[in-house]
Amino acid sequence: MRALALDLANTLRRGTGGTERDGLVTPADLERWLREHEADLGPTDPNVALRLPEFRELRGRVLELLAAVAEGRRLPPAAVEAVNAAAAAAPSVLRLEVDGRVVDQAAAGSPTARILGEVARSAIRLVGEGVRLGRCARCGRLFPAGRAGRRWCSPACGNRERVARHRARQRASRSVG
Ligand SMILES: [Zn+2]
Repeated sequence: MRALALDLANTLRRGTGGTERDGLVTPADLERWLREHEADLGPTDPNVALRLPEFRELRGRVLELLAAVAEGRRLPPAAVEAVNAAAAAAPSVLRLEVDGRVVDQAAAGSPTARILGEVARSAIRLVGEGVRLGRCARCGRLFPAGRAGRRWCSPACGNRERVARHRARQRASRSVG
């Protein structure tokens, strides 16, 4: 479930040059996001997508939290409180299946509260596990940085950054010459 909080946070990102991309503007955006995460969340009640403001609110809090981790700052107390509140609004129970699987299942809360609770728990686990996060120098996406301290979220972003720098150098040498 590590990806859930990161994926929600990454629907809003600021890339090189300050361009901001928000992938969660309309209920249709949220509906698509929920469908993409059906493996983690299960099929979603169609009304959940109408609760977009609550998702945007929690996203802002999760972003504050994960950005603080990525930048090595102290956790912002208001964001910690908001994430804890979202987790508490839909508490979950661990259940053992007869086939030995462990299921972490929401035990209470509306369909919206359950999903927000899952996202919040994902953020709590991510921060609690002490995962090192990086922010992609190209697209602004937060990603698990690993020990090597990578600067890009993907090889594609690394390539785009190198191409952009190469072009910038060419422009600079042309304008000088
Ligand atoms: Zn990237």
